[in-house]
Amino acid sequence: MNQPTRTELAALGEFGLIDRLSKGVQLFHEQTLKGIGDDAAVLDLGGQLTVVTTDMLLEGVHFDLSYAPLPHLGYKAVAVNISDIAAMNAVPRQITVSIAASNRFSVEAIEAIYSGIKTACEEYKVDLVGGDTTSSRSGLVISVTAIGQAGKEKLTYRSGARPGDIICVSGDLGAAYVGLQILEREKQVYMANPDMQPQLEGKDYLIQRQLKPQARMDIVYELRELGVQPTAMMDISDGLASEILHICKSSSVGATVYEDKLPIDGVTYTTAVEIQLDPTTCALNGGEDYELLFTIGQNDYEKLKNHPDVFFIGYINEASKGINLITKNENRVPVRAQGWVHF
Ligand code: ADP
Ligand code: MG
Repeated sequence: MNQPTRTELAALGEFGLIDRLSKGVQLFHEQTLKGIGDDAAVLDLGGQLTVVTTDMLLEGVHFDLSYAPLPHLGYKAVAVNISDIAAMNAVPRQITVSIAASNRFSVEAIEAIYSGIKTACEEYKVDLVGGDTTSSRSGLVISVTAIGQAGKEKLTYRSGARPGDIICVSGDLGAAYVGLQILEREKQVYMANPDMQPQLEGKDYLIQRQLKPQARMDIVYELRELGVQPTAMMDISDGLASEILHICKSSSVGATVYEDKLPIDGVTYTTAVEIQLDPTTCALNGGEDYELLFTIGQNDYEKLKNHPDVFFIGYINEASKGINLITKNENRVPVRAQGWVHF
């Protein structure tokens, strides 16, 4: 009689599922300062604080081997994790890499992935200290864990934004998403007719943003040099709208974002229009740009106002005022998350 309950994953979505799984997770150690719920966990192991984060890339979900070169894939798997360390305003130190591959892959192919992993290790100055290797029956899986460090006063959580703070992003948005649309389009053309050459001319920037994103550690170091301590920070993996909602929820605040202040690269803009996408929607909901979204107190504005990579897109307000986008026509519309729908 008693049918076991079955809830579809799609009914919860990714964030709903994480919320549900994390309920009742007990923390046994005082050393665990922050568990689930930020870009990385924060541990007090003595000395500086330690941050730990992990991200997994799956073939067919996060990448498509028909256009993702293997070295880029290895690089990206590391970069997206370093990006979460950067989002904590911490410095990355070590990574572990776990790989599951089927016999469809040769040793040389796995080595090609590792050449990208090693390039990223060099670039971000992290030590590859371990991992796991196993076989897979379907598709390639790469999972990376990154460990970083920061002083207690340096760490930035999602929860520190206060009304009056200025909302900043570290670079242009929407390019990675538009790049993906172009790669998908050319793949369809190729599958219909393998003699066709892909039309990627002039789209290098978009494609590079999709296939080889950079973690913005440079911004972390520059903020330190300028003496700017962000009040809250996270990286833009799921899309600006989704991340703003996360910061507002964690910080119990609202926000006002101006459409005309959203940084959109010229090629992103024209290509979006060309393929009948709204550039603003791409910037708000595209995701995978791996830029940093952060808030600063107004007294830090002077120090950052001439920074070539930092864009000021709005401000934090009281929660009661909501989370709104002021459009180019001066309409006020609530910010909604589309982000990536995994299920
Ligand atoms: P990000 O986009 O920064 O990688 P996620 O949205 O994946 O972050 O995760 C949000 C938070 O939930 C993080 O603290 C992450 O460690 C945690 N988390 C995600 N999946 C799980 C899981 N299956 N079990 C426990 N914690 C998880
Ligand atoms: Mg993140």
